[in-house]
Amino acid sequence: MIAAWRASGMSFAEAVCAQPKVCALDLAPRQKAMPDYAGALNYAYHLDAAKLAALLTRHATQRLGVRHVRDHVTAVTMADNGDIASVTARANGEIQGDLFLDCTGHAALLIGGQYGVPFVDRSAQLFNDRALAVQVPVDAESAIASQTIGTAHRAGWMWDIGLPTRRGVGCVYSSAHLSDEEASDELEAYLRRTAPEVAVADLSPRRLTFRSGHREIFWSHNCVAIGLSAGFLEPLEASAIVSIELSLDALIDYFPASRDAMELHASRFNRLFSYRWDRVIDFLKLHYAISRRDEPYWKEHREPGATPDRLRDLLRIWRDQPPSSFDFPEVDEVFPAASYQYVLYGMGFSAPRQGALGQAPADQAAAVRQVRERARALASALPTNREYLNALRSTAALPIAEGISVQ
Ligand SMILES: Cc1cc2nc3c(=O)[nH]c(=O)nc-3n(C[C@H](O)[C@H](O)[C@H](O)COP(=O)(O)OP(=O)(O)OC[C@H]3O[C@@H](n4cnc5c(N)ncnc54)[C@H](O)[C@@H]3O)c2cc1C
Repeated sequence: MIAAWRASGMSFAEAVCAQPKVCALDLAPRQKAMPDYAGALNYAYHLDAAKLAALLTRHATQRLGVRHVRDHVTAVTMADNGDIASVTARANGEIQGDLFLDCTGHAALLIGGQYGVPFVDRSAQLFNDRALAVQVPVDAESAIASQTIGTAHRAGWMWDIGLPTRRGVGCVYSSAHLSDEEASDELEAYLRRTAPEVAVADLSPRRLTFRSGHREIFWSHNCVAIGLSAGFLEPLEASAIVSIELSLDALIDYFPASRDAMELHASRFNRLFSYRWDRVIDFLKLHYAISRRDEPYWKEHREPGATPDRLRDLLRIWRDQPPSSFDFPEVDEVFPAASYQYVLYGMGFSAPRQGALGQAPADQAAAVRQVRERARALASALPTNREYLNALRSTAALPIAEGISVQ
């Protein structure tokens, strides 16, 4: 599509898909009458985490026969072979098991505390380590943005998520480049610009600190780390929950039927997730490595040592040809070639004169025309995001969705 896009005079996103038009009009990516999970465009829901946890608990205990014990783990007992034999919980005592999932978040009680698996710090590539998060009330009739809006600032970026009763806004920054006070000022200036009707001084932002990185391995002996215990990368592109889902998918596929196959499954899982963490870091870093901003933070991001080698090599290749699926050969890549094309060409990375060989220019031009027609058709067929969410919330038995975003 590269040649046809260049000839069209449109932005890359407008030339290759209908999403920009739908987003510009604050429309929902689906109609309420569509079957569950179907959509006119790719989308994701913003979920209320507490309600989702209650739903999953009910489903697991009532339908799947899971025994749910809510307690605080105070000790771990090891077996002679180095496996975890049991954990001791404050109220329920010893709980034995064959396989333990470490879901203890930053505490990483088992993978870090028990097995001492080192944390690999990736902050030399991803500098951000703090965020200020705030909830901004919105008018009941106001438009709800169909996409998460990300806006760069001098030492990081803002997120802005539209929900029916509020916007979730956050300022992500690097404490080495911006003081907490300066970050507050950035956030305040953004809110005054985007929510002039709100008394910004009355809002109380919450400060979060984090360190981008991950464990050296994720499965040790009979313990698999999933979620924050495995690692965390800055929230750009929201990769945390999808990594949890992918870990569970892989665990189901690699589920050890007996102890003697465990090491083989563990080493396959560790190889796959080392690859995946590296690929997510590449994709996040792309946003910084091709920026043209000239504040110190952005310049440091472009210094040679701050970009992972594989991404540096790909950027050289992509000067001559667009990202292709051969650059991302694994099953279930978190970010495929299309994601890279969006960011590259959306941020003004110079596109090669020729696109990938294989699609004739006439076919490409027809494809761009089709995209334009589809965008027009969707613009007249889809409800606004607010209309869709109002209808969903009034009829859902358990409204766990707080919002919906085009992806
Ligand atoms: C403001 C914000 C916005 C975010 N937005 C997104 C997003 O849009 N998309 C996305 O993918 N991710 C997002 N994330 C990240 C996502 O929320 C986390 O990755 C996810 O919640 C991690 O889940 P977890 O279960 O691994 O860890 P946690 O949620 O930290 O849970 C760990 C649990 O372990 C328990 N625990 C710890 N020690 C013990 C013990 N000794 N005994 C018993 N229990 C113990 C803790 O009490 C806690 O309940 C966001 C995070 C923040 C802060």
